[in-house]
Amino acid sequence: MSYPVAIAVSSVQAALNDSQWDALIIVASSFTAVPELQSEINAASAIDSRIGKETVLLLSAKAPGQRLILAATGPLDRDYDDVRSFYDAAKQGISQAKAAGAKAPALYVIAPDSDAYQYAAEVAYLGACQALWQPLEGREACGETMLEPVTHIGVIGVSEHQAGYMQAVEAGKRLARDLCGTEPERMAPRRFADYCVEAFAGTAVQVSVETNVDTLQKDYPLLMAVARSSLQVDRHKPAVIRLEYHGEGEIEQTLLFAGKGLVYDTGGADLKTGGAMAGMSRDKGGAAAVAGFIKTVALLKTKGIRIIAEIGAVRNSIGSDAFVPDEIITSHAGVRVRIGNTDAEGRLVLADLLSHLREDAKTAVNPKLFSIATLTGHAARAVGPYSALVENAAARRVGLSADLALVGDLWADPSEISRSRREDFSFIKGRSSADDLLSCNNAPSSVTPRGHQFPMAFLVAAAGLDQHALNTAQPIPYCHIDIAGSGVDGGDWQHSKPSAAPVAALAAYYCL
Ligand SMILES: [Zn+2]
Repeated sequence: MSYPVAIAVSSVQAALNDSQWDALIIVASSFTAVPELQSEINAASAIDSRIGKETVLLLSAKAPGQRLILAATGPLDRDYDDVRSFYDAAKQGISQAKAAGAKAPALYVIAPDSDAYQYAAEVAYLGACQALWQPLEGREACGETMLEPVTHIGVIGVSEHQAGYMQAVEAGKRLARDLCGTEPERMAPRRFADYCVEAFAGTAVQVSVETNVDTLQKDYPLLMAVARSSLQVDRHKPAVIRLEYHGEGEIEQTLLFAGKGLVYDTGGADLKTGGAMAGMSRDKGGAAAVAGFIKTVALLKTKGIRIIAEIGAVRNSIGSDAFVPDEIITSHAGVRVRIGNTDAEGRLVLADLLSHLREDAKTAVNPKLFSIATLTGHAARAVGPYSALVENAAARRVGLSADLALVGDLWADPSEISRSRREDFSFIKGRSSADDLLSCNNAPSSVTPRGHQFPMAFLVAAAGLDQHALNTAQPIPYCHIDIAGSGVDGGDWQHSKPSAAPVAALAAYYCL
């Protein structure tokens, strides 16, 4: 697995003098402060008023490879501007460099001297890598060198330590994009598991994969309800993947992640109709992000943290043995769940994973529990292209979501905070003595009030996390991250690139 290596370059002059670079991309809101190239930029600006407004490639005698690319960020000082302007401009700049034939461009970021832009260089590199990434199926069919010709990016003005950090984040994001973006047969559950095993080979991460159907049936009853009609096809059978990382030094906190890995979601018996199924191979973005974040941690060898993650790689198929609404299934935590709609399958998978992680958390040092999932259309409707964070009271007390959102803003990986409320818990309560909980209503989440908040209440109750509320002997901070709005660039689920949200934000929060 390759990605453009980040190399620290001390100055613009050093980049101009070094023949290993074959283009210079300047990312800035204006290009009036580049003394090394000012006369050329001024001459070009005199005849081309696009400079400073859009991305332009100039022939330059001084620039490496004679390619000078000016990628304009636009204004940076309005109330609502943030570092994503650098992420987006770097995407444009690197795309021009690649199209022009460059394989090793240098990147020069000129950012305002303010906290909001303190990681602009790193963010620009990550934006460039996002633009350069090509789908796994394409790479396997055509070869990586052909589709991804850019092998190195020189980042001007950063230290080697910074270069190493951004490269580790990109490695995690790349794994997340590969796992999320790939079609459902290439990334069938057990092949998803194999890809994880391969990705963590030679790292400190231990990967174990449970595929025994009887064991899964006993330990993950809700997950197996979702998987039930996939069991008739050998290659579609489910897998639970457990990833464990134990950092060096004294462990100060334990992070526990549940990842929704629906390698395909037909909706099940509540079949997705009218074209709503296309793109549902991306319903494994949460699981992909969990694996991606752990890859970054493994490369950085982050000290003092322990991570335990469980990924449910499952296919929600339809067939004669498909689970149906009205069934009552007892969760791993012993809660009787009435199925409301089989297309609300992600919460069933997550609830059993979270229940196992709850048991791990009981004996862990300073545990923080997360679920990451492309869970509801409502999240995308409510917050647009942001990750939606819904936390419990114990997490709120320690400011978990607030901190994560703050750091995400600095790394072009933003999120919005939603509150968990009493209405959410009323909504999922069982309607009779036959059951304890209802998994879902029967309207699309996007037209259901609190459609991305109430599923978090379901997860809390179905996973037994209500036993670890703020006013109990052992509160466990828990944050649910719905990436249905942020998981793919631009929101085209079938064709857009996976964004790898929230890998960069988690990395910045826990590894920096
Ligand atoms: Zn679904």
